[in-house]
Order: sequence, then structure tokens, then C-alpha cells
Amino acid sequence: MGDAAGVDSLFGEGIGPALAYGQLAAKAICQAFQRKEFSFVNFRSMLEKSYLGRYLMIRWFTAEISYRMAGRAWFPPFIWWLGKLLAALSPPPDRLFSPQS
Ligand SMILES: Cc1cc2nc3c(=O)[nH]c(=O)nc-3n(C[C@H](O)[C@H](O)[C@H](O)COP(=O)(O)OP(=O)(O)OC[C@H]3O[C@@H](n4cnc5c(N)ncnc54)[C@H](O)[C@@H]3O)c2cc1C
Repeated sequence: MGDAAGVDSLFGEGIGPALAYGQLAAKAICQAFQRKEFSFVNFRSMLEKSYLGRYLMIRWFTAEISYRMAGRAWFPPFIWWLGKLLAALSPPPDRLFSPQS
């Protein structure tokens, strides 16, 4: 699914999302066999509610702003400063893909 479904639009880092999509797709396939219902109509909402979905939305939103503002001289230094600040304030992120579950 990864690249075909959409990955990190900011830096193009697609390996983590590809693995996370695989995990979500496996879960959806298991549920489909349990329910004997193979339309996968709920997959989009399953994705949106997942950690991967939130990760992709944040990346998409940040990319959208960054690409629109990229021509302004003050913007790149500001975004580096903001990134450093957020990195200093944030706890380490969750793993996108967890081999145990
Ligand atoms: C040069 C380069 C460097 C990169 N560096 C990084 C990096 O440092 N970090 C990072 O996170 N990401 C990086 N990426 C992106 C990352 O490689 C991709 O986002 C990731 O591999 C996507 O995985 P995927 O499973 O979605 O697709 P793919 O890995 O492209 O797998 C799709 C597979 O489907 C097969 N396929 C296609 N059509 C069909 C068909 N009709 N029938 C059967 N099989 C088919 C293809 O042959 C392929 O094997 C890089 C990409 C490139 C090109």
C-alpha cells in the first residue's frame, strides 16, 4: 500500500508508513475474514483513526504550509527554529510500526 496509498509528503520517507500500512491492512483482512464481509468500506475510517493516519495528516498539513510559504525568505530559518523547539519540547514519538502486535 505505502507509496500507492500515500506517504510522508514532507520528506518522502516512505518505509515507516509502508510497514505501518501493512500492519493496518493485515488487521483489516483478519476482521474481514472474521465477519465474512470483504467490502473494506471501513478501511478509510480505520486509517484515519490510527496513529499512521494522524501521522500522515500532520505531515500533509505541514507540507502544505511549507510548500506554500517556501518562497518567503524568513520562512526556512523560522521553520528550522520551530523544528528545534518542538524536538526539544516533545517526548520521543511512538513507533509507526510495532512488530509485537
Ligand atoms: C532512491 C530512493 C531512496 C529512498 N530513500 C528512502 C529513505 O531513506 N527512507 C525512507 O523512509 N524512504 C525512502 N524512499 C522511499 C521508500 O523506498 C518507499 O516509500 C517505500 O519503499 C514504499 O514501499 P511500498 O511497499 O509502498 O512500495 P515499493 O517498495 O515500491 O513496493 C511495491 C512493489 O510492488 C511491485 N508491483 C508494482 N506493480 C505490481 C503489479 N502490477 N503486480 C505485482 N507487483 C507489482 C513492485 O515491483 C514493488 O516490488 C526512497 C525511495 C527511493 C526511490
